[in-house]
Amino acid sequence: MFGLFKNRRRRRVLARSSLPEEPWRRTIAAVPALASLGPDERERLRALALLFLHEKRIEGAGGLRVDEAMRVRIAALACLPILELGLDSYDGFASVIVYPGEFVVRDREHVDESGVVHVGDDVLSGESWDAGPVVLAWEDVAASGRGDGYNVVAHEFAHKLDLLDGAVNGLPPLHRGMRVSDWTSTFQAAYDDLVRRIERGEEPWLDPYAAEDPAEFFAVCTELFFDVPRELVRRYPALYSQLAAFFKQDPARRAGKNTPLRSAT
Ligand SMILES: [Zn+2]
Repeated sequence: MFGLFKNRRRRRVLARSSLPEEPWRRTIAAVPALASLGPDERERLRALALLFLHEKRIEGAGGLRVDEAMRVRIAALACLPILELGLDSYDGFASVIVYPGEFVVRDREHVDESGVVHVGDDVLSGESWDAGPVVLAWEDVAASGRGDGYNVVAHEFAHKLDLLDGAVNGLPPLHRGMRVSDWTSTFQAAYDDLVRRIERGEEPWLDPYAAEDPAEFFAVCTELFFDVPRELVRRYPALYSQLAAFFKQDPARRAGKNTPLRSAT
């Protein structure tokens, strides 16, 4: 019953309003992953972003005033991962908090490998609270999705999708036809490879932060999946397939249609 009301409300929102044209156009132009969407996908993303802005509060913090262009940029980037999954995937939280730049979380507890608790300040560009908001630094949102593999918005919202089964552990709830054993063996192999490379002192292709734990690994891989999909599919084809099955999208194919293949480094 509740779903019916929600759907009716959403249809009403879509019938009565639309995202402002100019900020939407500028967002598409700034983010290659959005520019490579086909016309139908782009229209669906625009509708999803409009509903996102109706259903989530976006609040400025640390003196930041969040204007319309920022709201549109955040909504578009946040909705790309759920283009085929639907807005209900983000039901578990109501707001997004945006700081002007990196923000400090005071007195955060860390447990080290030997179980000792350390207390210190964290400087962050984004954070996703288990039962609460997504927190973002605007500077990092503006730098997200530019085609260089960095996307703090995809990263933090990936944590929200991971959380859907109750645990942030790098294993989101998989769809019918996907196997947990395939997912975990594929991600574990890539994760172990990254950790080995770091231990050998190599500079890995993946952001070393991904080696923090499997949840961070999934979030970093989600950034790469949307931002540099052709490189990801070339380097980690099995992992790419798992992500493509989970997100029900094939961004490497999209990017291949619209942009020349970048040479790998
Ligand atoms: Zn993270």
